[in-house]
Amino acid sequence: MPNGGSDNCGNCFYNKAQSEIGRAFDRCTDHEQFVKASLCTIRNTNIPDPFYTYCRNFYPQGRGGQPKHPTAVGAIHALGLNHQRIPWNGVYPPMLVDNIKCAVCGASSHSGIRVETVHGRFETFCSNEHYVGWLFRPKNNGSLPDSE
Ligand code: SF4
Ligand SMILES: [Zn+2]
Repeated sequence: MPNGGSDNCGNCFYNKAQSEIGRAFDRCTDHEQFVKASLCTIRNTNIPDPFYTYCRNFYPQGRGGQPKHPTAVGAIHALGLNHQRIPWNGVYPPMLVDNIKCAVCGASSHSGIRVETVHGRFETFCSNEHYVGWLFRPKNNGSLPDSE
């Protein structure tokens, strides 16, 4: 089992791949097909890394009794540096990359975070804190874009 915790999109009732491909950890499930088909049916958003993606609407596949038309609560989160969960930039997932220069402090770092901006450009950050600080910068009025 992937080590991204069990409360991820790969194990969530609201992931379309659960009905199209099958349960993530069933022996007959094609892992690659499952990842390709992963789409959050609450947010209508593709989930490119489902076993390391999270949100507060998570509902375990197979439990039963889940709300039929839930409202999205908060942002989708990815796994950031030091295994901490960090919010997506709207529909863009942050990714861990090597050798970056931080857009906030200008520091060079062997490991960091890269995220697409609303303009199709990319920014990089040296830490979770600098990425999240950039996300909540005053330009966004202290709120996450397209989410909370
Ligand atoms: S984004 Fe949330 S609700 Fe959607 S599939 Fe992932 S954990 Fe489930
Ligand atoms: Zn920095």
